[in-house]
Parts: sequence; C-alpha cells; structure tokens
Amino acid sequence: LLEVNHLEKTFGTHKVLKDINLQVKPGEVLSIIGSSGSGKSTLLRCINLLEQPTSGAINFHEQNILANNFNVTDYRAKVGMVFQSFNLFNNLDVLQNCTIGQTTVLHRDAAEAKKIALEQLETVGMAPYINAKPAQLSGGQMQRVGIARAVSMSPEVLLFDEPTSALDPEMVDGVLDSMRALAHTGLTMILVTHEMAFARDISDHVVFMDQGVIAEEGTAEQIFENPQEERTKTFLKRYL
Ligand code: ATP
Ligand code: MG
Repeated sequence: LLEVNHLEKTFGTHKVLKDINLQVKPGEVLSIIGSSGSGKSTLLRCINLLEQPTSGAINFHEQNILANNFNVTDYRAKVGMVFQSFNLFNNLDVLQNCTIGQTTVLHRDAAEAKKIALEQLETVGMAPYINAKPAQLSGGQMQRVGIARAVSMSPEVLLFDEPTSALDPEMVDGVLDSMRALAHTGLTMILVTHEMAFARDISDHVVFMDQGVIAEEGTAEQIFENPQEERTKTFLKRYL
C-alpha cells in the first residue's frame, strides 16, 4: 500500500532522515519508536507531504507521490493524520469538526457527513458531546474527537504522531482503546508512540529509529522480546 525507498530529509546542513526504507501492507499496524529527535515526526510528515523529502521515493498504490503530476489533494484525503496537539477547529462544535472535511474535501452531502460523523463519534464514546466546543472538553475527549474526525474522512491509512503524549495519564487509556478498536476494523495505521506496552500489543511491525536511521525493525515480538541491536536494548530499558 505504502512504500518508502531511500528517503532522506535535510534541514539546512542537518540530515534528519538517512536512507529510510519501509513498507506498509493493507491492514497493517506499523509503530515507529525511538528517542526524541530521532526523526519520527519528520518521517510521518514526509509521508503525508507536510514536509517535502530531500530525496528518495514514497509510493502509494505503486504511484510515486513525489512526482510532479501526482494529485496531492486526493492523496491527503486518503492519508489522515492525528496530531499530538489535536488541531481541532475551536470555533466549531464536535459534530462540525467531524463533518467539515467530509463536505468540503470529499463533497459528501450534509446528511451523509453527519451520519458518518455520528457513527465515528459513537465508536470513540463522544456521541454525547456533539454540541460541545473543543474548549469544553478534556484533552482525552479532544483527542477522541480528533480520531473520529480523521476516521470520518474514510482514510486508507491513518498516521498518529504521539496521540497520547499531551494527555493527563488518566486520559490515555480511553484514547488507546479507541485506537485499538480502529486497528481491529482493519484500518492501516502508522503510529509514533512512547506507549511501549500498547505498541507491543497492537503492532504487526515495529521500527526503531535512532539519529535519523532505522536502527532495527521487526515484528513486535522481535523488537520487544528479542532486540538485537545494542541501541534498541538501551532505549527499551528506559521503558521497563
Ligand atoms: P520527538 O520524540 O521529540 O517528537 P522526533 O523523533 O519526532 O522527536 P523530529 O521532530 O522528527 O524528531 O526531529 C528530528 C530532528 O529534526 C530534530 O533534530 C529537529 O530539531 C529537526 N527538525 C525537525 N523539524 C525541523 C524544521 N522544520 N527545521 C529544522 N530542523 C527541524
Ligand atoms: Mg516527534
């Protein structure tokens, strides 16, 4: 579904991503773990074209998304993103947050958009809050709305960049439960997280990044139970 080949990203003279290669199959959950500054967010941002890669290729359904004639608007609708900081529209209520992209980008009619939004808000337990404004919600509730909004766009791939790291500890489980439910629907997910137990549970494949390179990758079991690289072991020890 998605393939990253020899991806590099440089900011000024700082090479932040070096020869990144990965593949995501339909229905797969890929987790990206690694220390602060290792390039995890930059990689996600390259995948959804919030950043322009310096070199390399990213293929989606075997089409090069970096080609000049590639339809980026179409692509962005198919590859959703859930942000650490929620990025909700503060002037819109919960329901409107989940319908506006559907009507403006996907051109769904209002009734259909509402139906889909309500289904997704129900799934994340936020249906009782459809008329609330984001400012009236807790962080965990806002993030569940962020997830419902992203899923309402019927993405083929959903990217998550540390979706729980801005939350109070008691809010984390509700968001992780929503993500687990999504993974079980067969949605393809790429997830940057520091929630190691969750990553171990949910992931088909795990990538450990260190200083801009993929230092080790494998199944969740390989990476968490039997890491081979010294730097993977050192990193994981901090989470025990
Ligand atoms: P964290 O766990 O703290 O979120 P990360 O693995 O997501 O870290 P990135 O945010 O991808 O790391 O950053 C990787 C490196 O790239 C860092 O050294 C960062 O300072 C640098 N960087 C990221 N974005 C930019 C930018 N727009 N301009 C310059 N440097 C940047
Ligand atoms: Mg980051």
